[in-house]
Amino acid sequence: MNTLNTMTSSNKLLLAAGAAVTTVTLTILFTPSPVKRKFVPPPPNETYEEEDKNARLRLTESRLKKATPDDGFDAIIIGAGPSGMCAAASLARLGYRCCVLEQGEELGGGAHVFSLKGYEFETGVHYLGTDVEMEKMLSFATCGMIDIADIGTPVEGEGLMHDEIIIGPWDKNDTERRYPFTKGKDGEKEGESFRRMLLSKFPDEKSKVERFVDEVMKCRSYKYKQSAAWLFRLKALSWLPAGLRLALTKVLARDFWNHTQITAEDWLRSIDIDPSGELGSVCLGQYSDAGVRPDELSTALYLGVIAHYINGARYPIGGSGAIPRKMNAVIRAAGGVSFTQAYVNALVVENKKVQGVVVNKNNVSIRAPIVINSAGALPSYELLSEHVNVDKQISSLKSTDKPSVAFIFLFVSLDITKQPEKERDETSHNRWIYPKGEFTAYEKELDDSEPWVLPQRLFVASGSSKDGGWQTRHGKNKKTIVVLAACPWSWVSEWKDLDKKGRDASKGYQSFKEATKKCLWEQGFMRVYPHLEKYVVDKEVGTPLTTNNFLAKVHGECYGRSAMPMHWGCPELVPKTPLSGYWLTGQDTGTLGLAGSLASGYLTANVVSGCARLGNVIRALELSSAIQGEEAIYG
Ligand SMILES: Cc1cc2nc3c(=O)[nH]c(=O)nc-3n(C[C@H](O)[C@H](O)[C@H](O)COP(=O)(O)OP(=O)(O)OC[C@H]3O[C@@H](n4cnc5c(N)ncnc54)[C@H](O)[C@@H]3O)c2cc1C
Repeated sequence: MNTLNTMTSSNKLLLAAGAAVTTVTLTILFTPSPVKRKFVPPPPNETYEEEDKNARLRLTESRLKKATPDDGFDAIIIGAGPSGMCAAASLARLGYRCCVLEQGEELGGGAHVFSLKGYEFETGVHYLGTDVEMEKMLSFATCGMIDIADIGTPVEGEGLMHDEIIIGPWDKNDTERRYPFTKGKDGEKEGESFRRMLLSKFPDEKSKVERFVDEVMKCRSYKYKQSAAWLFRLKALSWLPAGLRLALTKVLARDFWNHTQITAEDWLRSIDIDPSGELGSVCLGQYSDAGVRPDELSTALYLGVIAHYINGARYPIGGSGAIPRKMNAVIRAAGGVSFTQAYVNALVVENKKVQGVVVNKNNVSIRAPIVINSAGALPSYELLSEHVNVDKQISSLKSTDKPSVAFIFLFVSLDITKQPEKERDETSHNRWIYPKGEFTAYEKELDDSEPWVLPQRLFVASGSSKDGGWQTRHGKNKKTIVVLAACPWSWVSEWKDLDKKGRDASKGYQSFKEATKKCLWEQGFMRVYPHLEKYVVDKEVGTPLTTNNFLAKVHGECYGRSAMPMHWGCPELVPKTPLSGYWLTGQDTGTLGLAGSLASGYLTANVVSGCARLGNVIRALELSSAIQGEEAIYG
């Protein structure tokens, strides 16, 4: 009896302890994080000149001293691409005072704009799709200060055309084929104009076309989007063991996950479309947006891109540079600052916690208890390796990666003052020029070829024609056109160690640039805009080595890691790292493209601020919900 009594009381004790632990844990997990400080929205009437000046604030010691709050910054963000800026602006909306450090001369990373002899050029955001979540995110991180408008060239009865896929001629026996991608008529069901275009071009392959378009449209459904959202919600729960996280991903994010594990080509074959045939090539016409060739590209991203643009395209008023400029205004309003020409080359670590960073200018150190790195997953881990043994993680990152495509650019400036108004080119769609279909075979040929021997696969676009705010900033007589081609790294690798001065002095590099200019000019510009030749005032080439300079890349890889099946299972691609206070963000941890990089910045801000606790994740509550009156963005 006595023994029974003792056991009962120890059981009671155990039960009570268990209940206490459960209550505390549940409270911690389910309590939304409180708003940290009061946030004052930025003044909406800041001029473009003021915003622009603040987007080029070079780091100096005196500026740093002046900008540092008395009690220091709350967070440091390495890299001012869309993800870093979005993470900083999201935290700023909770009142965090962030210090953004960008090694380039402008804020924006892949979304930055730069000036060439008075002409503004976009670099890495040529168009956006129609994504409710992306637009909500942009609005959230800019406090509603960004306007986005439909873009494209009007096509009779089909609405605006945003992309035109042009295939051929490969040789003199071949012909040119054009495929317009349009938004469709007002009020029409999403995807119908795409379906109509494919059916009109491939009347004998009706059932394949119907199946293809139906599958693309599934990717815009709530169910599929929730499946993708679960992959990212589980990334937020970084404390879950990697194996368990992967197992849960396979269940909760099943539709999206399955698409990550099959290549675009294999998926097309699975629905009976030959990826090398003409229909297959048109279905793959936007694959270059995803940065890796079709036999390696994950279907999740392949279909994601088509679904993103199937209902037309949009562009920020004020150009892609408006994105970092407006987010920077939000960061500053909360007491933060963004500096350019600030290359972070080390972390400050004390007591096994990050305490700040070292910037390579006079080895200035800047302190904050939170450091978010948006510079890419591998460079972020390499920075960590000085302090923590992360050999295993680095080899895991390397073994699941291949750099994405490197582009080479021709930037063309035009002064059209003397062009009669009625002759002005009003087209604003992107032209994708493919010398032939069979894209994978073509890319392999390109990799093995000498520079500019083969006819080139090109993208031709005019930034000035897409930006609804262009005339206000630059008047109506300046026009800009960009021609892009893929550039195998082997074509430029021999000059990789030269600095700008060395490259300017290198005859080999300069003659490579001249050959590039000639090829992109003849095959790109002159094919699309021959009537504008007489208005050209300048042509400049940017190579993958230029990309390395502006975006701190290694192989000119424009989209970071390649979105191949093996990339998705890499357990390191989450915000949490082995060092307390040090977090990752960026397209490598999300997906490439503006939508994916914004989502990754927001995801990391949720985790850092404590908003991504289990209870919030389950209830789809987000950082935006912690701000009065803001609905969840991905909920
Ligand atoms: C040519 C091109 C065309 C594209 N077209 C489109 C498009 O039309 N639509 C679309 O949605 N997306 C497009 N993208 C993709 C989009 O631009 C990227 O996905 C996006 O910019 C990724 O954002 P991010 O913040 O993750 O990385 P990034 O934009 O690469 O930003 C990372 C930043 O970190 C900085 N950095 C790196 N190391 C350090 C360091 N040690 N210290 C300080 N700073 C550092 C870099 O300089 C860079 O500014 C394009 C990209 C390119 C390059």
